[in-house]
Amino acid sequence: MIFIWGSRGRAKSIENGDFFCPECNGRQDMDLMHVKNWFTFYWIPIFPMGDLGKYVECKRCKATFNERIRDYDPESQAEAFEAEFSIAAKRVMFKMALADGEIDDAEVAQITQAFQNIAKREIDPADMAAELEMARNDTLTVKDYLTDVAPGLNDTGKELVLRSAIAVAKADGNVDPEEIVQIKEVIAALDMPKAYANGVLAEEGLATI
Ligand SMILES: [Zn+2]
Repeated sequence: MIFIWGSRGRAKSIENGDFFCPECNGRQDMDLMHVKNWFTFYWIPIFPMGDLGKYVECKRCKATFNERIRDYDPESQAEAFEAEFSIAAKRVMFKMALADGEIDDAEVAQITQAFQNIAKREIDPADMAAELEMARNDTLTVKDYLTDVAPGLNDTGKELVLRSAIAVAKADGNVDPEEIVQIKEVIAALDMPKAYANGVLAEEGLATI
């Protein structure tokens, strides 16, 4: 008598949830599938022999992905970046404002306005006061603030930071040499193409670099 035996993989859903499906380009329901190798006898699975791993299957498009896809979330990553960018931009503006000594009310108003434009939301004055205190007491430079966020910024984002810095420098009526130094530091820290930076400076009526 001949026995026909073998093995085959069987996938079983072990968890439900949602994830960001790159195929659907949005959040979708998913199954976390666990694949086990089954011993088969006359093609009938009899018992599991080994673990073949796990994968994620999108319930909508049925595409399958490595389990690590569950950590991928471009939406929350974008939000985290937005928050980081906003903080860096705000600190840079305060550093700009502190460059010529003290911060006057016009500068605080300018920073608040510029930051509201960046953050696209109303800013709590208490929040601004706390930021000002931090900028006043820390020893970090605009370079320190921008080094982490600059690589993730596109030209428009960089221009926004630079124009915010210039707006702050202009708030008290004239742009001092210390402020010019800071603006140059911002441009360098943003790693902005020189021609692009000069275009912005010329538009703002400042000397090019
Ligand atoms: Zn999908």
